[in-house]
Amino acid sequence: MTTYTAPLRDMRFVLHELFDVPGQLSALSGFEEAGADVMDAVLEECAKLCQEVLHPINQSGDEEGCVFKDGTVTMPKGFKEAYKKYADGGWCGLTASPEYGGQGLPEALDYLVAEMVGSANLSLGLYPGLTQGTITALTALGTDEQKSTYLPKLISGEWQGTMCLTESHAGSDLGLLRTKAAPNDDGSFSISGTKIFISSGEHDLTDNIVHLVLARLPDAPEGSRGISLFLVPKVLLKDDGSLGERNKVAAGSIEHKMGMKASVTCVMNFDGAKGWLVGQPHKGLAGMFVMMNKERLFVGGQGISIAELAYQNAVAYAKERLQGRAADGVACPDKSADPIIVHPDIRNRLMFSRSIIEAERALAVWTNMQADLSHKHTDANIRQKADDMVGLMTPIVKAASTDFGSEIANACLQVFGGHGYIREHGMEQMVRDVRITQIYEGTNAIQAMDLVGRKLGLDNGRLYNGWLSEVEATLKRVDGRNDMAEFSGPLKDALERLKSCTQWLFEDAKSDPNSRNAAACDYLRLFSLTVFAWMWTLMVEAALEKKNGSDTFYENKIHVGRYFMRRVLPQTTGLDAVIRAGSNPMMALAEAAF
Ligand SMILES: Cc1cc2nc3c(=O)[nH]c(=O)nc-3n(C[C@H](O)[C@H](O)[C@H](O)COP(=O)(O)OP(=O)(O)OC[C@H]3O[C@@H](n4cnc5c(N)ncnc54)[C@H](O)[C@@H]3O)c2cc1C
Repeated sequence: MTTYTAPLRDMRFVLHELFDVPGQLSALSGFEEAGADVMDAVLEECAKLCQEVLHPINQSGDEEGCVFKDGTVTMPKGFKEAYKKYADGGWCGLTASPEYGGQGLPEALDYLVAEMVGSANLSLGLYPGLTQGTITALTALGTDEQKSTYLPKLISGEWQGTMCLTESHAGSDLGLLRTKAAPNDDGSFSISGTKIFISSGEHDLTDNIVHLVLARLPDAPEGSRGISLFLVPKVLLKDDGSLGERNKVAAGSIEHKMGMKASVTCVMNFDGAKGWLVGQPHKGLAGMFVMMNKERLFVGGQGISIAELAYQNAVAYAKERLQGRAADGVACPDKSADPIIVHPDIRNRLMFSRSIIEAERALAVWTNMQADLSHKHTDANIRQKADDMVGLMTPIVKAASTDFGSEIANACLQVFGGHGYIREHGMEQMVRDVRITQIYEGTNAIQAMDLVGRKLGLDNGRLYNGWLSEVEATLKRVDGRNDMAEFSGPLKDALERLKSCTQWLFEDAKSDPNSRNAAACDYLRLFSLTVFAWMWTLMVEAALEKKNGSDTFYENKIHVGRYFMRRVLPQTTGLDAVIRAGSNPMMALAEAAF
């Protein structure tokens, strides 16, 4: 049985002491309610829900899974009741517009809520998590009628949403998709085709499901420029808005998969289902990206959720499990052996995990706060800069947090030895559950290619240069401070390495078309570690300011930051060398020789 205690102390540190999120946001129109007290109360309520309601059914949900019978899906025991509590608590519409029943709270706060929910129950959290994407897309692109019809029910949690992109022959390359949309006389469209791997495609948590579907109009150009976005409800609505007849969309089967077994993944058949265009014809992929960008940050958060859960359980086990003796002297002479936490290897796994998780959490809150600023700030320049930061950091948050999430789940399983591999302790579930986060919402290789191929060069490097100036401002602020030197020094070195490597990448790409994609994943990791070094420098700066004798939190924070700088950041040297090896080592072997 796993346990989960929401890391509220660290969350409050990030929210208040590191970034002063309430101070930065509550002065903005629309965020007047988002003061420090409200944010703390939200976090505390969410922690209770996660610890008392969502986490206790996490393991049973994995064991039971979802059951498909005659086109319907039954959720594991307790999920329906738990979801009702979640929806009744108003959690589905935390950031949604108050005009449609939402609470209008910041994304930065919502990130922390989603992190807790994901730690407590990754599968259950995906249902409302995806629905938030549907809400975001409809809010941005829907007609007034679509908004007033669907948003209140999605925001209250009475209905849920999906995103239907993938087809058997069209995954990363959505330009290949074939689902068709034929216009009807009444302004609606008939949608026909088969989508695969659709999360939450069919279930019994809600009476209706709102599918956002990518399909082609009859006159559509080939490729990704010919894709439109449609809203297709599972149950059609009567004129008065109540539920009417069943639409011609149904789950053909559900997938049997590695993890997240209580999150249903469906093959969805659209057989002339009635749908309505959302946004402009042929601009559906751009429209879907409104949803996907939100979901990419959400999925990055899922990686952090599982890492935190794995870390907490590994720490508890490492303090209990007695094996061997400490090399620097017996720690527990009254016991048959010392707890394994005395061993440097176990320490290393735990410190690695913690040093990454805390940096990722800080980065996720910072990036989501940039999203808030980009939506609500009165100064257009600040809005633009904040939007740039979200664009640049989205592939990093998504890919790095999920890659590390998987690594950390594995490292923490290792702390359990053989007991981690068997089911009882719940560690193997974490390794299985987190694995998909590296794949869906665009594989991490696709994220890395988005970073090197698009985001870096966008508008002559405006996003990248904007971020560099943020880090350089931090370095300038702490320059000359002896107490910061062991943090700012390595950050400065890593930043120079990143700059030089980026320049090399642009140069090499001129003569080698494979260069950027060959480097992409390693470059994303190099970039991520440098961003984490920046986060650690900021965290240590805040911790030094707050440090006092009675509260060890700040001293501990500095220890963890020191570990990151000495034991993790040096990976960037190796990554730099790997990237500069270019594409030849991987491309030289003839295809036939594989
Ligand atoms: C459990 C689960 C839930 C999902 N939920 C949803 C959902 O709700 N809605 C939805 O629409 N989809 C969903 N998906 C689909 C998911 O988004 C895709 O699986 C993913 O985008 C990858 O597509 P693919 O599986 O077809 O792999 P492919 O695109 O075939 O990729 C195979 C491999 O090739 C690599 N690759 C592909 N193209 C390139 C390239 N140009 N350059 C370099 N490498 C490349 C990929 O990184 C990957 O390693 C889900 C999938 C799963 C398994």
